[in-house]
Formats: sequence, C-alpha cells, structure tokens
Amino acid sequence: MMQMLVDRIKKDGVIKHGNVLKVDSFLNHQMDIELINEIGKEFKRLFADCEINKIVTVEASGIGIACITAQYFNVPVVFAKKSQSINIDGDVYSTQIESFTHKRTYDVIVSKKFLNPNDKVLIIDDFLANGCALVGLIELVTCAGASVEGIGIVIEKGSQAGGEVIREMGMRLESLAIVDSMNAATGEIFFRDADKKE
Ligand code: 5GP
Repeated sequence: MMQMLVDRIKKDGVIKHGNVLKVDSFLNHQMDIELINEIGKEFKRLFADCEINKIVTVEASGIGIACITAQYFNVPVVFAKKSQSINIDGDVYSTQIESFTHKRTYDVIVSKKFLNPNDKVLIIDDFLANGCALVGLIELVTCAGASVEGIGIVIEKGSQAGGEVIREMGMRLESLAIVDSMNAATGEIFFRDADKKE
C-alpha cells in the first residue's frame, strides 16, 4: 500500500452508486501532479528488478499516469486507442474492452509499428475492477509477441474479480491501493492492509 495515496483517497474519494469510486479531483480529471509523481516513483521502486523498455496503457485516464511513470524508466509510452471503426488494413492489433464505468464495449487498437516481439512491457492503468481493460491490454501485447513484465495499477477494487483473474494468469500485478469495500451511506472506504506501512 502507498500510504500517501490511501490517505488521499480517504480524504477526497467520493463513492458513487454502482460501486464506482470517484477520484477525479486528483487522479483522472483534475490531476495532482505531485501525487502522480510519487506514484511514478513507487512503480519504479516496485519494478526496479524488471527489464522494461516500454509502458503500455489505454486512453484516456491511464495516459498521464503512464507518462509520469515513464520518466522514471526512461522509456516511451504507447497507449491503446479507442477506435470508432474496425480497421481492416491489418496494420493494427485490436481487441475489445468492455468499460466498467460506461457500460459499453470499445474496440481498442495499437499500431503494429509500436509493439514488437523485443518489447518488455510494463502495463499501467488507473483502476482495476473486473479486469476487462487489463485482459484487453495483455492480449494486445501478447499478440505482438511482446512480453508483459509487470502490471502497475493505482487503485484496485478488491471486491471485484479483476485482481484474481490477472494474478491467476500468472501476471506480476502491483496495486498501490486496494479498496476492499465502500459504504455509500457513511462515505467510509476500507482498504486492504490499511495499517501496514512499507
Ligand atoms: P475493468 O476493465 O477492470 O472492469 O475497469 C477498469 C477501467 O474502468 C479503468 O480503466 C477505469 O477507467 C474504469 N473504472 C473501473 N472502476 C472504476 C471506479 O470505481 N472509478 C473510476 N473512476 N473508474 C473506474
């Protein structure tokens, strides 16, 4: 757990119905760059032993976090794009991602130019809920013949299946804060290992 992040979620996170946690005052609408800088540093610390030459995320909310993190790894960022039209030219890898927050399915694509078999990828995203976004990103990376060295998530929602799905795939997944449950009536947010400081 990253205590600074946990404290900020407790202070500014807002519980919405449908098990949605709003963190748009500091993470994915207005962005607190000082906090995100610490997040980037923490991902570097956690994955210091990994050989990583590319960070992959999905638009839109993963991009800022991925870019700041990439400065600690000195690697480029590639973000999967949500595409309106199916690309039939064969110059992209594509998959489908069902959005937890928007309840719709997107085609997401990455140009074949920007992922190749030599790539050792760190996947970064803001949230892990049902795991659909991550499964899609893993598919894009593996389709390219590249390897997923690790996955860094800012907030994992422990009450949803995604974390288990991804860990069962044998992936190295590090979540900076895991929210186990939320009480919409009282506004309380309960974290896994909340008292454990690293
Ligand atoms: P998944 O595909 O794991 O179900 O959901 C991951 C994506 O849904 C994330 O990229 C994030 O944008 C969005 N998401 C899932 N749960 C939440 C939530 O509680 N709050 C917010 N703000 N976004 C969420």
